[in-house]
Amino acid sequence: MAIIIDGKNLSSLIKENLKEKVSEFEEKYNRQITLAVVLVGENPASQVYVRNKIKATEYVGMKSLSITLPETATYEEVAKEINNLALDNSVDGILVQLPLPKHLDEQKILKLIPIEKDVDGFLPENVGNLCLNLESSIPCTPFGVIQMLKHYNVELKGKNAVIIGRSNIVGKPMAMLLLKEDCTVTICHSKTTNLKEFTNKADILIAAIGKAKFVTEDMVKDGAVVIDVGINRVDGKIYGDVDFENVSKKASYITPVPGGVGPMTIAMLLENTYLSAVRRNNE
Ligand code: NAD
Repeated sequence: MAIIIDGKNLSSLIKENLKEKVSEFEEKYNRQITLAVVLVGENPASQVYVRNKIKATEYVGMKSLSITLPETATYEEVAKEINNLALDNSVDGILVQLPLPKHLDEQKILKLIPIEKDVDGFLPENVGNLCLNLESSIPCTPFGVIQMLKHYNVELKGKNAVIIGRSNIVGKPMAMLLLKEDCTVTICHSKTTNLKEFTNKADILIAAIGKAKFVTEDMVKDGAVVIDVGINRVDGKIYGDVDFENVSKKASYITPVPGGVGPMTIAMLLENTYLSAVRRNNE
């Protein structure tokens, strides 16, 4: 039976540590670190994510600004809010909750965020810096995965890491981070043929697909480390991308859903906001 990688517990440790760092920052610079969250529309999952992010921000002693716009908001209306936050010197981080309503161009909106306030690490410059191993804001979910692997002392050097999913927010940055840790990285996706051939060679298998229980035990090597990024709602219940019950019998380490990658993502958003505040203060 695999060791459970407890993301809830680790995220609590990170938040307690941040609480201290945030209060030291406030004492030293006589100002509160501020994160602004912009939500457009009424997507119920996004509303829950935003609520959780605001709660966690305030828990560690940061200030949160919440901007909510209707589903019908135009590009100009959204841009006006982001431009105000960009100019506001008291704001350290700006997060635009994705997905945006279909009529809005995601990349065009994200580009309005100044690089130094991009706490999601989604801007092209931050993505480029990550690829070049330069200082950057690291996308929160893959950042959280790396923290979990390190906290549990999982050996990464020279290991075969296979990622299922090539999204800009999870799969691609995850590959860059694992490459930095000296893994041999393979990215699989919806057009990959013979997926099982790749996954069965994985010492570290990361599932970021968005399909409940997609990864079954026959796709996993004995003793593999399995990280489940998926969040899938089925009949009111949340499932990961991995068939936890059966895969956990084969893996050496595994993350549960919920209680794995999810809470780590929020903790790393707070860490990124703190780092962004420190960088802005030093400039
Ligand atoms: P996405 O839809 O952008 O990407 C999904 C990827 O899966 C694509 O690259 C696609 O090629 C691949 N894929 C789809 N079907 C496949 C198949 N049959 N075989 C192989 N690959 C296949 O999704 P995303 O934004 O990367 O999110 C993935 C999952 O992770 C979702 O469930 C999402 O809710 C979850 N997520 C969780 C967190 C968290 O904090 N835990 C953060 C972000 C995303």
